[in-house]
Amino acid sequence: MSRLRLSPQMLSCFSLAAVLLTASGCYNVPVTGRKAVAMVDEQDVKEKSLVEWEQMKRMHRLSRNQAQIRVVQQIGSRLSQTVFWDVPLADWEFVVFESPNMINAFALPGGKVGVFSGLIDFCENEDQLASVIAHEIAHVAAKHTHERFSQNMLLSPLNAATNVGVGIGIGGVGVSMPSVGRAAGSGVQSVTQAAFDRGKELEADEIGLNYMARAGYDPREALNLLIRMEENLAAQGVKGPPGWLANHPGFPERQIRINELLPAAIKIYESGGDSTTPIIIQ
Ligand SMILES: [Zn+2]
Repeated sequence: MSRLRLSPQMLSCFSLAAVLLTASGCYNVPVTGRKAVAMVDEQDVKEKSLVEWEQMKRMHRLSRNQAQIRVVQQIGSRLSQTVFWDVPLADWEFVVFESPNMINAFALPGGKVGVFSGLIDFCENEDQLASVIAHEIAHVAAKHTHERFSQNMLLSPLNAATNVGVGIGIGGVGVSMPSVGRAAGSGVQSVTQAAFDRGKELEADEIGLNYMARAGYDPREALNLLIRMEENLAAQGVKGPPGWLANHPGFPERQIRINELLPAAIKIYESGGDSTTPIIIQ
């Protein structure tokens, strides 16, 4: 009778998998209610996020544009109060990076949010900017990075345990071609490695739309911004998201989905959003 023999390496794989399963945590994604599993240590993810946050601060110049800093702080304040019960342990920080060619923003687990000045310049109003920040915060609230880590661990437990980068959920909304080149060339490669899949992007759109409406921002502007971004890329001769964002849903797919979700979000917005959310008068 043959007997299954396990190599020391396989044994360590199994022990690690057992530890991971023991430490597994199921949770419901806010707003969508999807059941998800995170098998990573919260504190570990938070620490890695802080390392990436400090790297981003070293790589990109901090903005001195007081008007832009003020508007991002205001949006951040309203959104972070709205999402308080979904991300109760977050230590929110909203920073504007001086990078006119980058039409984007990102949020890290733990609550660190970076907004590139190119995005602020591109947005026609505060509601459009809020839609991007709400989308990025939605990735954090849904623990998409935790899910990605967990998937990586299952695929390659030893690698994942020793070589995990947080990965920044950049590219959530859209970028111009020059900004893609700059991002790829400036050492933000973990961005591409941890690019979120199409389903998670659509989920972040859905959650973000709800958050922005509850915070008192007009959800119709999320759609307007996506349309303008698509037009902007088309004007540069680009159809759909660039290559390294290939696993992101295309603009038309996102626009159709947002269109479907808009009536419910408009209802929330027109009813005054969260009664528990203090609205800052500008
Ligand atoms: Zn995204």
